[in-house]
Amino acid sequence: MSQILDGKALRDEILDDLKNQISKLDQKPELVIIQVGDLAESNTYIEQKIKFGEKIGAIVTHKKLPLDIAESELIREIQLANDDENVNGIIIQLPIPQSLNKEKIIDSISPQKDVDGQTAISIKSLVVGSPTFIPATTKGVITLLDANKIDPSGKHVVVVGRSTLVGKPTALALLNRDATVTIAHKKTQNLQAITKSADIIVVATGKPKLITKDYVSENQIIIDIGITVVDGKLVGDVDFENVKDLVAAISPVPGGAGPMTVASLFQNLLEAYQKQS
Ligand code: NAP
Repeated sequence: MSQILDGKALRDEILDDLKNQISKLDQKPELVIIQVGDLAESNTYIEQKIKFGEKIGAIVTHKKLPLDIAESELIREIQLANDDENVNGIIIQLPIPQSLNKEKIIDSISPQKDVDGQTAISIKSLVVGSPTFIPATTKGVITLLDANKIDPSGKHVVVVGRSTLVGKPTALALLNRDATVTIAHKKTQNLQAITKSADIIVVATGKPKLITKDYVSENQIIIDIGITVVDGKLVGDVDFENVKDLVAAISPVPGGAGPMTVASLFQNLLEAYQKQS
């Protein structure tokens, strides 16, 4: 039996810790979530964040804006949150409509309030190895490894997926932790041989069960970030049932990387609050 990397249990520990710290504050940290449109998946993710925020005693303000909002109007909303000194963190729930300039919009967030580490300044800080805010999903992966005493230093880590939101920052954060990192994507040739050669595989593709038993080898650690709804159920990028007994440790979906993302976002929020105070 391999070790199951339990993100839910760790999320709950972080929840207690944050709740305890926030209970001692006079003013509660506030997160503003800006959503454009009404995508069902985004609604679910936002609900999880609101729930977690309520449990730890933070304020979460959800601004739902119309799908056809003008870019200037959206930037004005972000500016309002930037200027509001009660607001400590701001996130734009992705995706946003393609008609909007995503980079320009994200870069309108004040770097001091960029608790999902997505602005150019935050990303540069990750590239140079002294991150301000590590993107929440990436931070969750690192925390899950650390809590399970898995040190990426000197290990060969294969990150499958190269998105700006997940794959690239996760690869960079692991490089900063002295891993030897390979990044794979759709054009990667012979993915099986590459993943099999890894010590740690991190998968973020959104392709359900892409990583089958033919892609893994024994003694590996597998972190599955992928979440896809298939027949009403959440499915990861790893064929969990057929892989779990072949490797040393694996994170499940649901209950692995997902809960860690939410907890990490609020750790960043508290950090932002402390830096701003
Ligand atoms: P994305 O922007 O669609 O990026 C997917 C990446 O996977 C791309 O780089 C793509 O390669 C690569 N890819 C797709 N099919 C592949 C294949 N067959 N072989 C190798 N690489 C392949 O998605 P994302 O935003 O990074 O999200 C990825 C997954 O993580 C999704 O399921 C998403 O729901 C989930 N997610 C989970 C959390 C969490 O909290 N756990 C947070 C965010 C996202 P190319 O670049 O070549 O196209």
